[in-house]
Amino acid sequence: MAPLRAPRKGDEPSARSRAVAGLPALSYSSYRTYAECPLRWRYLYVERRPEVPRGYFTFGRVIHSVLEELVRPLVVPSARRRDGGEGQTTLRDWSDGGTSPAPGAQPLLEAEPLLALYDRLWNDEGYSSRDEEERYRSLGRELLLRYRDRLELEPPAPVAVEEHLEARWNGLSVHGYIDRIDRTPSGGLEVVDYKTSRELSAEDAESSDQLSVYQVLVEHNYRAPVERLTLLHLRSLTPWRTPPRGARTLEPLHHRMGEVADGIREEAFEPTPGPHCARCDFRGICPEFRPMPTAEAPRLAALVDRFDALRADERRLERELSRTAGELHRAAEELGLHRVPGSKVVAVRRREVAWQYPLEVVRPILERSGALDRLNGESPDDVRRLLRDSGVPSEVRRKVAETGSRQVRWFWDLEEADDGPR
Ligand code: SF4
Repeated sequence: MAPLRAPRKGDEPSARSRAVAGLPALSYSSYRTYAECPLRWRYLYVERRPEVPRGYFTFGRVIHSVLEELVRPLVVPSARRRDGGEGQTTLRDWSDGGTSPAPGAQPLLEAEPLLALYDRLWNDEGYSSRDEEERYRSLGRELLLRYRDRLELEPPAPVAVEEHLEARWNGLSVHGYIDRIDRTPSGGLEVVDYKTSRELSAEDAESSDQLSVYQVLVEHNYRAPVERLTLLHLRSLTPWRTPPRGARTLEPLHHRMGEVADGIREEAFEPTPGPHCARCDFRGICPEFRPMPTAEAPRLAALVDRFDALRADERRLERELSRTAGELHRAAEELGLHRVPGSKVVAVRRREVAWQYPLEVVRPILERSGALDRLNGESPDDVRRLLRDSGVPSEVRRKVAETGSRQVRWFWDLEEADDGPR
């Protein structure tokens, strides 16, 4: 295996500890890359093949760098653990409930020097045209000025910016660079991750494995509890905040990351094609994308055409099946029948009852009562299990039950015809 490079943001910094200890330490992006396609992970992190620069990534990096400089003067001594505790400053030393500026906080950069900083850090790599670059550049100016104004109006209490943290999470080495860690008014911590993407929603924050990993990192390195996990959407200045994850979210993630670590340790780098291949820069060397041998082309083309025709037949038969079952169902309803004999088999009508629960309503109910971590999944069956969970207050279960709707589905089974008299 090729030697691995030193850690840096967005990279595979675990390479260093891996080379020393033979164990992979994972960043979130490294985990996600391997989970999607192990071969792409090898191209990136072992063979160190460069990717084609893309303007939106460059833009995101520049904005992050400017925000790092903008917010850094506001950083106050943190509650970070240190070996032996010597020289440690705890949040309690300066927390007053968040009502006054933290000691050590410096004034914000004015608009003009902020834009000068932006110009200095600007990078033109990866844009498809001057026009595209200019559009991004002016979006960045607007976004930074608006965010600066917001910081002035509602100053945060950051305890760290762009901090690299490492942790041993139940035997698994993880690490990450965290955009910002803020003190909350109650003396806890808020993990903040900036996003420059066009769209972002509350669901993105709720389902973000990246935030879960950051929570673990902060919990292992700071004394104060993590109280909030936030994706800060810079285009709309919306902080999508979620409560910290419970064990029911963290344990499955730990398991998935452990599997990825095992795969890397065992050098299992199979190509795993999928929709993600469309944005992979390594298709030219990937074995899954070898050019077709000319001699094989006609035979394979015929197989593809046959497959396509069978799929079309399958769809047509499915439509016909559904039409026939519907007609049979209407006739059986009218006549009050449940068993309808044919010439060879008997069609038997069966009923299936299913419950549906709107998660966008259920989740806030559970969140408000602090019971979200009792929901172990997103399926209706998971919600039904929660309704029987005596660890959830009965009043909360009643509210969740009220959101449910009962749906009845009829379907037909075929049975052997009875040879006796009908
Ligand atoms: S093209 Fe697809 S299968 Fe091949 S390395 Fe890239 S992501 Fe993996």
